[in-house]
Amino acid sequence: MKIGVLGGGQLGRMMAIAGYPLGIEFGLYDPTKDACGGQVARLYNASFEVTDELRKFVDEHDVFTYEFENVPLELAEYIAQHKPLYPGKDALYYSQHRLREKQLFLDLDIPVTKFSKVDDRASLLSAEQEVGIPFILKTTTLGYDGKGQYRVTSQQELVELADKLFPEEGEACQDTNYAGVNEYIAEAFVNFTRELSIISVRDTNGDCVFYSPAENEHRDGILHLSVAPAPNLTDEKLSALQAYAKKLLDKLGYVGVLSIEFFETDDGLVVNEFAPRVHNSGHWSMEGSITGQFENHIRAIAGLPLGDTTNRSVSAMYNLVGHDVDRKAMSIPDVHVHWYGKDIKPKRKVGHVNVLADDYAQLNQKIEQVDGLVK
Ligand code: AMP
Repeated sequence: MKIGVLGGGQLGRMMAIAGYPLGIEFGLYDPTKDACGGQVARLYNASFEVTDELRKFVDEHDVFTYEFENVPLELAEYIAQHKPLYPGKDALYYSQHRLREKQLFLDLDIPVTKFSKVDDRASLLSAEQEVGIPFILKTTTLGYDGKGQYRVTSQQELVELADKLFPEEGEACQDTNYAGVNEYIAEAFVNFTRELSIISVRDTNGDCVFYSPAENEHRDGILHLSVAPAPNLTDEKLSALQAYAKKLLDKLGYVGVLSIEFFETDDGLVVNEFAPRVHNSGHWSMEGSITGQFENHIRAIAGLPLGDTTNRSVSAMYNLVGHDVDRKAMSIPDVHVHWYGKDIKPKRKVGHVNVLADDYAQLNQKIEQVDGLVK
């Protein structure tokens, strides 16, 4: 079997690395010439449009998947007309657009923060009544890692933001700070105690497995650390997270790995967003679980039996963002360095370190040791 992956970054690369031992070959499609996945699999280098190269890519592979949710829908449609595409177009349709995504959560009774659509000055100013202050204004499309977001904590800030984004009454201005977007979602600010994510997998028969939810810590809007299983998660919340994931998987007729991010608050869980793909907050599973998320994604889309998601121990994923780590870190027992083969640039995810330990106290000690070796 040959699997074609849209996107040749680190996620496509790690899918290929996990899939070759299963006897599967990979081709990665990416507009960037030196996409790091090209170091481990054949790279098809062309734009995300229906080009001759794309047609060739489709001809030469049997099953398709993607490593990012902003695959143009027309491209996904073209592929799906010819070959199986997993997780599929529906997952892209909802995850590409925050308003559609939030509405889907509402429809599925997955608790979501109050939200409203903003596409002109009047709707921005009335967000105060719709969702209350403080709120976060996010572009409906294209935002990631906190990009394309504005925080509004007072009425004065609201008016200033309205002046910036929509200076003229009735005129829909473009957001020059962020890709010319002119539609937003206002989301009531969630006072969360921590962020959690759950990675789940559904196969072609509709059977599902779940990974332990992880607790995630961000730095400058970028994931810094994931710890799994999330400490002190009640059985009730664990069941709720799995039930929410199951609803979404079934609704979307999903095949592959799905990631959902939640806020934990004093009043319960509130969903943030989902990603129809393998996820940074699931990288710990590469060694921390009997079967890692990349292998299970490939198993699911290749029609193979899903692997066991039981934890081997408590584990953490420490992201290398714009920094290298001294390879001495590998002398710490059960510490595993994953390097993506990319040049180091500020804010760029260039690798991660997985840390396994017998208990959380030992885990924290090892994380501190790793932290001291980051350069
Ligand atoms: P997102 O791009 O939606 O994942 O948002 C990036 C980060 O902003 C999240 O990981 C949260 O830390 C924070 N954030 C997003 N939405 C909200 C919200 N409604 N309330 C509070 N914090 C938020």
